[in-house]
Amino acid sequence: MIVYLDNSATTRQYDEVTDLMADLARNCYGNPSSLHGLGLEAEKVLKEGRKRIASAFNASPEEIVITSCGTESDNTVLMGLARAPRNKGKRIITTAVEHPAVLEPCAELERRGFEVVRLSVDDKCRIDLEELKAALNEDTLLISIMAVNNEVGTIMPLKEIGEIKAEFNKKHRTKVLLHTDAVQALGKIKLDVKRELKNVDLISVSAHKIHGPKGIGALYVRKGVNLMPFMLGGGQEKGMRSGTENVQEIAGFGLACEMATVSLEERAKHMAEVRNHLLDGLLAEISDVKVNSPEDGVCSVLNVSFPGTRGEVILHRLEQEGIYVSTGSACSSNHKTSKGSHVLNAMGLKPREIEGAIRFSFSEFNTVEEMDYVIGKVKSAVEGFRKLGSFR
Ligand code: PLP
Repeated sequence: MIVYLDNSATTRQYDEVTDLMADLARNCYGNPSSLHGLGLEAEKVLKEGRKRIASAFNASPEEIVITSCGTESDNTVLMGLARAPRNKGKRIITTAVEHPAVLEPCAELERRGFEVVRLSVDDKCRIDLEELKAALNEDTLLISIMAVNNEVGTIMPLKEIGEIKAEFNKKHRTKVLLHTDAVQALGKIKLDVKRELKNVDLISVSAHKIHGPKGIGALYVRKGVNLMPFMLGGGQEKGMRSGTENVQEIAGFGLACEMATVSLEERAKHMAEVRNHLLDGLLAEISDVKVNSPEDGVCSVLNVSFPGTRGEVILHRLEQEGIYVSTGSACSSNHKTSKGSHVLNAMGLKPREIEGAIRFSFSEFNTVEEMDYVIGKVKSAVEGFRKLGSFR
């Protein structure tokens, strides 16, 4: 039996996406910039893909810049600041718990003379809006706060953050921009640029987290927002990202967007049911379990600690039983400090809680029945480790 519970790292591609991409690779290989029929055909596919991606945010297709991944989308926003003419402002406000795709560009910007304010979080990875208000000043250029934390699943209050930004801009007649890394939010919570995200200017997303292909992402850029392009060349993506478009992947991403966001509520409800079933079982069957995810966290992530164990050992033990989990974020396993996950550290967890942390992350393909199998295997892995540990 294989139970894949590392869906925050990446997801299994929808079969429909694979079929569509294979068909396009064989039959639609024109360059969308070419003027002949094959080019026009590719352009049509590209247009349809972009439209579908835009629909996932209730945005218009002109507001979507296709990138190669979530990391590129984040870098386009942040490193774009470094390339922009500097006549005003050098403060960037972010959080201590962002993905390295935001943290690292911020650190680089700091080295180049920008000022980076990293908001703290509480023990459930929640920011304090008062701290954000206090950090905003007339030197501020950008706020970059993730929509959903990838390690523990905390949903950040983007509606409120947007309102604070809009009020500040109005009062000070300025244009602080708000960016969100929504890589873990797409397909899990509603992202509507005309409603809850109406004050968000820039949104990063990635296809492979929603059963789309790897190596393709997008950046939503609200109409009227000016960014410096990351890649210069043939002027594709309205000059924002040159390079021949990856037509198959864009089409695959578009289809995945449509599939993952249609009946989103139903899919999220199913994931939450699976998540809660696992959580209840772990708490009932295993002693001394610390839940690191908030109760109102995203449906797709459950982070718990089994103090007195080592997450990495539990992970490999579970792998032997066909269960795939993570100790934190796969994408940031190169980014861990000697003290472990920067997110769990920022949340103030004790070293033994960080050492014993496991992230289970779900997709619509997981089932409650699978969780019964997982609960039993986690129980024996944890109890086995704790018993052995006591003899050391
Ligand atoms: N941002 C967040 C919150 C993520 O979880 C990830 C990947 O795990 C990324 C950015 C990077 O996305 P990509 O792998 O598409 O570069």
